[in-house]
Amino acid sequence: MHICFHAAALLFFLPYCYNMAMLDAHAHIGKLTGNAFVCTAGTEDLNKARLFPHWALGAIPEGKEHDMDKLYQAALSGGHVGEIGLDRRYPDMDRQIEVFRDALEIAKECGRLAVIHSVREYGMIYRILSDMRIERFMMHGYTGSEEMAERFMRLGGIISLSPRAERAKSFLKLLHLPFVTETDMPTGDEEMRALDAWNRRLSDLTGRDIEKESERIMREALC
Ligand SMILES: [Zn+2]
Repeated sequence: MHICFHAAALLFFLPYCYNMAMLDAHAHIGKLTGNAFVCTAGTEDLNKARLFPHWALGAIPEGKEHDMDKLYQAALSGGHVGEIGLDRRYPDMDRQIEVFRDALEIAKECGRLAVIHSVREYGMIYRILSDMRIERFMMHGYTGSEEMAERFMRLGGIISLSPRAERAKSFLKLLHLPFVTETDMPTGDEEMRALDAWNRRLSDLTGRDIEKESERIMREALC
């Protein structure tokens, strides 16, 4: 009985032990973990975000607060910058662009990775990144065209795919490029299971070890 229990426990935990190297390229604050790069929508979460080993502080319309002093403080104290970006579902695009450019300036000055959120604004984001000569960035939850992905990559950017990418017209074409994988979920057991399933799905489609590829690219990007 005793032995059976241990054998059962081992079988249960083995998949998780095996996946200790898994790194979610974009997640939100949940359970404390080193297996995800945690980003925020607003600067109000500075104190929670900085508890994670891989973290960024952001300012997108969904966030409550867009305090550039806090963003700067985060970038100076080991955090990255994100998520930041443009979202056509929200009003006042001029103000959004102003916040986005200020945040990019901070990322550039501090040499941090910018994590970029875009809803139907890839063209404008590309022009801003290229104009400001931003090279260290990641296009999170990418669902645009393959051509646009290649243009972002030529600037120096990383493309990150969440399970939503499967609904994009370009999905199969995007798989020919290097990319990282994300869930965009709060960290926790459910998030790790979703990431594992997503990596397996993409490995089946590409014949590549996507978990390993994504983890390698992310560890380099977060240095
Ligand atoms: Zn997100």
